Amino acid sequence: MGDGVRNLHRNLQLHLRREPGAALGRAQMAAQDYGIPDFIDSHAHLADAAFAGDRDEVIERARITGARSIVCIGSGSGATDVLAAARESAALASRFPGYAFFSAGIHPHDASGFDAATTIGALQEIVAAGAVAIGECGLDYHYDNSPRLEQRRAFAEQLALARDLAKPVIVHTRDAEDDTRAMMEEAAQAGVLGVLHCFTGTRALAEAAINAGWYISFSGIVTFKKWSDDDIIRLVPDDRILAESDSPYLAPVPHRGKRNEPAWVSFTVARLADARGVTAEAMGETVSANARRLFKLAASETS
Ligand SMILES: [Zn+2]
Ligand SMILES: [Zn+2]
Repeated sequence: MGDGVRNLHRNLQLHLRREPGAALGRAQMAAQDYGIPDFIDSHAHLADAAFAGDRDEVIERARITGARSIVCIGSGSGATDVLAAARESAALASRFPGYAFFSAGIHPHDASGFDAATTIGALQEIVAAGAVAIGECGLDYHYDNSPRLEQRRAFAEQLALARDLAKPVIVHTRDAEDDTRAMMEEAAQAGVLGVLHCFTGTRALAEAAINAGWYISFSGIVTFKKWSDDDIIRLVPDDRILAESDSPYLAPVPHRGKRNEPAWVSFTVARLADARGVTAEAMGETVSANARRLFKLAASETS
């Protein structure tokens, strides 16, 4: 851990140990100069059952720890009801207007439950309720939970929907770089913008995304010991880098292995800052500005 991350850890521990109800207000926190960056969590699965017991507390902790907004990812509910997560994320976001936002899409794992005749129409209705993005969608040839042909079909349909509705896409890709790259570049040609989320790909894929005008989002993986791609963190231009929790998965060090939550994006932001040689506060401002631009959050954000 760099010094920035170590200090942040200590300060967050101090902060989170306070009694419930004694939570500091933002102004007080700033006055005490804890040095915790503000940020936007661009990717959180808050509709996941892992948060069933304490969803509102998780969101409150995120808020007091510096999350200015959270994008709730509406996909990944399983192949039997591929849009359940999208509906739940829409409902969740509606309870925190101007703070929690939602996306809607079909995860590549669930592509076998995608029915071209019905799914896109139903998805379009949910998006019309105010989704800020389509996704996460994409290709996962690592787990191959759905046949690859069906993954490509579902991804292509969602890219086309994104083009038609002028929404950005949130893309998941694993062990599928060639196909992801080809489909991303074709979509970009058609005017679709997007983000490669939880980036763990090659430098070549990162360069292709940047050249296509797309964004790259980093998760807690960048805090893991085995992470060795700081050059890719540095490769991404200031106006294209995002940070995310991908909660409940991928908790950053020092919470690795626990259920992840948006508050801990602070550690990821601090690690990105270390890699790029900027302050955590500046890094937080950068990822927040980028999330606002890509997802058009600014108009509806509170505080
Ligand atoms: Zn993903
Ligand atoms: Zn995800």
